[in-house]
Amino acid sequence: MRLSTGGRLVAPLRRLWRGRRPLILTYHRVAEPRSDHWALAVSPKHFGEHLAVLADARRVVRLGQIADRLDSGDLGDDAVAITFDDGYADNLHAAKPLLERHSMPATVFVTTGTRGSPFWWDEHEQLIGHANGAMKDKFLTTWRQLKTASADEREIAVASLRQQSGLPPGTPPDGRPLSEDELTALASGGLVEIGAHGVSHASLPGLPHGLLRREIEEPKAFLEARLKVVVHGFAYPYGEWNAEAVIVAKASGYRFACTTAAHAVSRRTDPFLLPRFPVGNWTREEFAGRLARSFA
Ligand SMILES: [Zn+2]
Repeated sequence: MRLSTGGRLVAPLRRLWRGRRPLILTYHRVAEPRSDHWALAVSPKHFGEHLAVLADARRVVRLGQIADRLDSGDLGDDAVAITFDDGYADNLHAAKPLLERHSMPATVFVTTGTRGSPFWWDEHEQLIGHANGAMKDKFLTTWRQLKTASADEREIAVASLRQQSGLPPGTPPDGRPLSEDELTALASGGLVEIGAHGVSHASLPGLPHGLLRREIEEPKAFLEARLKVVVHGFAYPYGEWNAEAVIVAKASGYRFACTTAAHAVSRRTDPFLLPRFPVGNWTREEFAGRLARSFA
């Protein structure tokens, strides 16, 4: 399926797109990194094209508008909500200006405990990318070890990887989290809503109860104190959740929470298990085609 050259949708295609289900999209970065093992980045050009397609084909709404209407029987089937996970600085510098150009709202789920340090998975990718062949073969093994490590264990493991990789200390990886000032700037203006995405981005299932509560409660309190807003949404890190995490999210005062289950929203959707589709670095045509099929 092709679009007319200007990117405007032809009328029959527009009609076809009516009556779809509400969708929630997940982005992470709007950037062009040198390497992107986890396909987290969408280029600014492609992100702008995605928004132009959405402007023609769908109605972009705040995530809360979808979450709050699940019971109403009137979901607004052409509704699409845009979300970002993790809280990368490029969400402010590259994504926000494009959202503003289209007056499209979005929710950015922020991991609050980075304290200016890079995300561990970016450091891991950088170090393994710089390493020799034998270490490269251990990409997934070392990634899994780091994912389940405590903060202290991870620091030691990353330092060891750095030594083995031969990369000089102080070489930052591609992509960094928002600073506190950048977070404030991202939230200003009201178009971008901030949600929580854990303190340390730990996978919640399997955490002792006290730590699980901390990962869910603390970022809400931090963001609300910092930004003077109410934080309504939580996104489970890695999309991983269990019944305990859902109970704690509800008890913590969130109104909704997001998974990474890739399907459309329906009247049966639990507001604390909102499904979302991951968006890749797709061209205008590819994004439009997937959107027309509701990402099926
Ligand atoms: Zn994440």
